[in-house]
Amino acid sequence: MAPIDSTALIARAEAISKEFEYGADDVRKGVKEFLRLMDVGLQNDGEAMTMIPTYVTSVPNGTEKGVYLAVDLGGTNFRVCSVYLTGDSKFTLTQSKAAIPKLMMTSDSHTLFSFLAQQVKEFVDEHHGDHFAETADHHLQLGFTFSFPVDQRAVNKGYLIRWTKGFDIADAIGKDVCELLQKEIDALGIPVTVAALVNDTVGTLMARSYTSPGKTGTLLGAIFGTGTNGAYVEKLSKISKMTKPDSGVGEYDKSTGEMVVNTEWGSFDNAMQVLPDTLYDRQLDKNSVNPGIQMFEKRISGMFLGEILRNAILGLQKDVGLFSAATIEETAALNTPWSVDTSVLSYIEADDSEDLATAKSVLEEQLGVSAAHVSTEEARAVKILVHAIGKRSARLSAVPVAAILIATGKVKPSASLDDAAETKEELDVIDIGVDGSVVEFYPGFEKYLREALREVPEIGSDNEKRVRMGVAKDGSGVGAALIALVAAKMAGIPAAFAADEL
Ligand code: ADP
Ligand code: MG
Repeated sequence: MAPIDSTALIARAEAISKEFEYGADDVRKGVKEFLRLMDVGLQNDGEAMTMIPTYVTSVPNGTEKGVYLAVDLGGTNFRVCSVYLTGDSKFTLTQSKAAIPKLMMTSDSHTLFSFLAQQVKEFVDEHHGDHFAETADHHLQLGFTFSFPVDQRAVNKGYLIRWTKGFDIADAIGKDVCELLQKEIDALGIPVTVAALVNDTVGTLMARSYTSPGKTGTLLGAIFGTGTNGAYVEKLSKISKMTKPDSGVGEYDKSTGEMVVNTEWGSFDNAMQVLPDTLYDRQLDKNSVNPGIQMFEKRISGMFLGEILRNAILGLQKDVGLFSAATIEETAALNTPWSVDTSVLSYIEADDSEDLATAKSVLEEQLGVSAAHVSTEEARAVKILVHAIGKRSARLSAVPVAAILIATGKVKPSASLDDAAETKEELDVIDIGVDGSVVEFYPGFEKYLREALREVPEIGSDNEKRVRMGVAKDGSGVGAALIALVAAKMAGIPAAFAADEL
């Protein structure tokens, strides 16, 4: 084959990257549609962007205390931890983590949930064995972070609506996932009570609110990991579907006038009214387990960005003979659907060197493209694709954040902010907790997200500056512990403390 024409290669890569551009007008249109669909979901059951009431009616202030268990089924890993909340916005946490075997993601509910219960047993045996020997009648309270759409009917009861993120276990649909887990825990005879069902977004919101400095409660918890989703504090009066006569809602505390709502924004605009679409997005969707669903998530999160990149690289291969000098096995990751991890994008994006040595070695190790025969121009072409895909993800992520700032009345007109600045009035921060490997590790993710926020007229740079965004470290564990605490309190169960902490 003739040597690859570098000029044509870079030109084609740039043309593809243009297709991934998501401009200021697109962001504005996205925000408008997001606001519309928020309202639709708050008013009606069964909408794609579900807007799930979580039965959590307040956020922590940092004074909460006790030892709680938490487990997290997030998508890629299963984590078990115990959290000791010390009541001063601080905590200590012990945890174990196991990868979820791929086969279990499409098995049956007994196979999956007995595996989860077994992990809980091993953790409790190792870390809380003594505690239980002494207080055999006292059950540890567990918060179950389950990051899939559920129809929540009480703080510890929720029926699975559908699987996402590659899971597909038909017999679990419509079942109460707390009961599924409790049954398997009981079968193993461990003294643990599933006290609360927690979406990871709500956990992130709670954890951030417990740990964040100052008196301001956190407004939004947002995940950019395997999937993407967010939960925010909404006025009860706006969740009108809860007051419909046949809504079947359980008991909850109405005194705060607020409730945390889990948006399920991964399903924003499944109708594809405003979302960007490329050939590579369409290829991904067609080959996914849920075509036409989670269309927003498929453009943003870790489960998908690697596959979009793989499709785009294959496109460059076909169009202009990218990697034509390299040896690529039939079984290489590049030739295998869903086998390019999104961390690949982070590593390539981060490589600012002249010869793109890191990018080349990532191409070899992670994609199976022999580095010896990859030119710097070819690596550069891949980096152009990576940058386009990553930046689009970050800018799209600004859409729900902007919409929620606007919907909750947090943004202020620029003029009033000027006045406040003149009178040296303290401008209140808008606190947002984030979690997930994509927001945490993709270079520039927050920067691009903030750029897009500023482009929304209602927000502008004055309000964007008020946004304080921070990773809720160990958010799902601490958040689940906090919700287990609230649930146990409501049920009249006293807080537990480990013997050596009393
Ligand atoms: P979970 O969603 O299970 O809670 P994470 O937040 O760690 O777990 O997200 C895992 C996802 O993040 C995977 O899809 C993985 O491909 C992606 N990922 C892992 N490391 C990185 C990284 N360095 N940069 C970008 N994405 C990453
Ligand atoms: Mg997570």
